[in-house]
Amino acid sequence: MRTTAQWQAADASHFLHPFTDFGALARKGSRIITKAENIYLTDSEGQRILDAMSGLWCVNVGYGQQALIDAATRQLKELPFYNAFFQTATPPAIELAELLAEVTPPQFQHVFFAGSGSEGNDTIVRMVRRYWDILGQPERQVIISRKNGYHGSTMAGASLGGMSYMHAQGGLPIPNITHIDQPYWYENGRPQGLSREDFGKVAAGWLEQKILEVGPEKVAAFIGEPIQGAGGVIVPPETYWPEIQRICDKYGILLVSDEVICGFGRTGNWWGCETMGFRPDLMTFAKGVTSGYIPLGGVMVGDRVAKVLIEQGGDFNHGYTYSGHPVACAVALANIKLIRELKLVEQVRENTGPYLAAQFKALEDHPLVGEQQTKGLMGALLLVKDKAQGTPFASELEVGMVCRGHCFGNGLIMRAVGDRMIIAPPLVITRAQVDEMMALIRRALDLTL
Ligand code: PLP
Repeated sequence: MRTTAQWQAADASHFLHPFTDFGALARKGSRIITKAENIYLTDSEGQRILDAMSGLWCVNVGYGQQALIDAATRQLKELPFYNAFFQTATPPAIELAELLAEVTPPQFQHVFFAGSGSEGNDTIVRMVRRYWDILGQPERQVIISRKNGYHGSTMAGASLGGMSYMHAQGGLPIPNITHIDQPYWYENGRPQGLSREDFGKVAAGWLEQKILEVGPEKVAAFIGEPIQGAGGVIVPPETYWPEIQRICDKYGILLVSDEVICGFGRTGNWWGCETMGFRPDLMTFAKGVTSGYIPLGGVMVGDRVAKVLIEQGGDFNHGYTYSGHPVACAVALANIKLIRELKLVEQVRENTGPYLAAQFKALEDHPLVGEQQTKGLMGALLLVKDKAQGTPFASELEVGMVCRGHCFGNGLIMRAVGDRMIIAPPLVITRAQVDEMMALIRRALDLTL
């Protein structure tokens, strides 16, 4: 086994990491994660780390689940690969399509498989435009999404996303994608003296304004995450999504829920749209579908769109080598069955979710915490410099110092997004482990005072 320094040297010499300042990391050296069990990681120095981010929002069933390992091993031996392009299919892909239709809201009976969330959202762009083409309205090209939303890193995914630092590189966004402001009450509603409920309706109204500005006959779809994840776990007011739904219905616009983070139990229901109260026409999924054990993503296609594509569409000229990869699908099947068997969705809704909410509420007395939000097993703490004035931390660097320094150094992984510290632990976390996580978080905050 190599030493940490040896791993770091090889890493710095050859491995370009995603969303990373390559030069800075090469000088500093990566932390090398070598193994994991349940909700704990181990690094190359042998330190145990509580993973309050589920890897990258994906390890819903926790690490080391034998059922998933067995499913992959069995399928690798039986049939490691076959494609679904030329009128062929494999049993795991068919069975998974069937099971997804069972665990998704009733309008979803069909799935289009991809390899990741980004590929899923690329599929969304092509599918919604194709839908309107078939219906004889090819001018319906424009997709509306939100600033500070995240929908992936491919050209289409990053264009749908509203991350300005991503748009600043590589000629983004692609044409016919436009953004409205996010429903972030603390930043956009509170300063105006609006209640959360009133602000939710105001923020949804920005969609209607945008539709009228673009011209309703040109708008194909609206896409959003039920709760923005990478944007900082921003839980919108309860009035927001029902109003978005009403506006989409009014103009006949397709409503797309990006469930890549919120899906598979994260918010205390199978799907974030169920928690936030809306009925999408399409849903993107990835991450939690296999608990991240192997890459898989896709799009759930609701009856409204599926009927047109199937009955009037002809060839849909889109797909990936790994659409319906049998090993990934076998792992997903085992994963979804395990989520059911362990009753993880109910567990989040009735037990650990409310427990986490109470623990976060108790942090409101901390001098650094300006606001806290949770939904299911997602949570955010907004750090402020001056609580009375609500003065935000000036830069991500300062929050990063708290999180990465005091958390990372003390055996906890959580994430810094702007001035928010966020968590999304594995759904198998117990109450005692929530206590352990909260003690580490409080300690990091205290050390920052
Ligand atoms: N959509 C959302 C909401 C995400 O959070 C992510 C990734 O974090 C993606 C899409 C992109 O998924 P992937 O990284 O699997 O391409």
